[in-house]
Amino acid sequence: MTTFGKPRVVITGAAGFIGSHLAETLLDRGYAVVGIDNFVTGDRENIADIIKRAGHDFTLIEHNVSNYISVDGPVDYVLNWASPASPIDYMDLPIQTLKVGSLGTLNALGLAKAKHAVFMTASTSEVYGDPLEHPQKETYWGHVNPIGPRSVYDEAKRFAEALTMAYHRTHKLDTKIVRIFNTYGPRMRLNDGRAVPAFMSQALRNEDVTVFGDGSQTRSFTYVSDLVDGIIRLMLSSENDPVNLGNPREMTIKEIAETIIRMTGSKSRIIYKPLPVDDPKQRQPDITRARTILGWEPKVQLEEGLVKTIEYFRTKVK
Ligand code: UDP
Repeated sequence: MTTFGKPRVVITGAAGFIGSHLAETLLDRGYAVVGIDNFVTGDRENIADIIKRAGHDFTLIEHNVSNYISVDGPVDYVLNWASPASPIDYMDLPIQTLKVGSLGTLNALGLAKAKHAVFMTASTSEVYGDPLEHPQKETYWGHVNPIGPRSVYDEAKRFAEALTMAYHRTHKLDTKIVRIFNTYGPRMRLNDGRAVPAFMSQALRNEDVTVFGDGSQTRSFTYVSDLVDGIIRLMLSSENDPVNLGNPREMTIKEIAETIIRMTGSKSRIIYKPLPVDDPKQRQPDITRARTILGWEPKVQLEEGLVKTIEYFRTKVK
């Protein structure tokens, strides 16, 4: 507990898509939040309202967490969220991505250890690579190309998991690992290159919608409020092994493109572009562990989540 009587959470990457939603929900639930971001892929606009509303309960530290992290006062939880997270971002920033996943995670773990805080790291379904097991359970070790263009993200996240477990085993730190599957919602960057924002900005401008490959590859999309609820449940649980969080409703990329075109009332047509190297062919979380350990289940239907996201993107598309 802080001197203000509120538990205090440090979030690295607090100005990012998921980081800012986490900060907002934790503030709403009575936590004090210290947000750290260097705004490489984060956006000040994502936290502008939070800063206005939260007053003393929110502190912003502008800092690159790949360098030593210094936070004054007590800390109860450290949420390690900083990283470029979309394929075009991490392929654009390969060294920074490897540094934040390794050195950034090391510094965040060091902070948690010094403050006797609970630590959670944001891992990813990318640790499963182009999976040969379907759906993916946490026990699956993955099928990752260690030297391909996506490896800068995949291997950084796998290293972060290894480092987290080493701190847990060696220093008895209370650590959590959440493996996040494709998530969408307001505050995604229009041009971050991921399927949902790309298709929405193209559809809202009546431009061609760019499907990579033949669009038969699958993903399972989770609305951000469901994800944040699961993350907070895991943060408060006594679980130390990895937990998948994602919506098991799986669909092809062509299907999501068509859905977005229909829901935006767009005149766009689909065009096909080459499939990026090592693009996973299928992805669906097995969420048995989240269901049993956390009592968690995604609640927001795809259409409902897309309506809210389209509403947000309409305000952003010029
Ligand atoms: N994708 C696409 N068109 C785009 C952006 C992405 O067809 O403009 C595809 C991409 O090749 C992948 C899927 O959509 O098969 C999801 O891509 P995203 O970048 O959202 O996330 P990933 O799951 O690959 O990390």
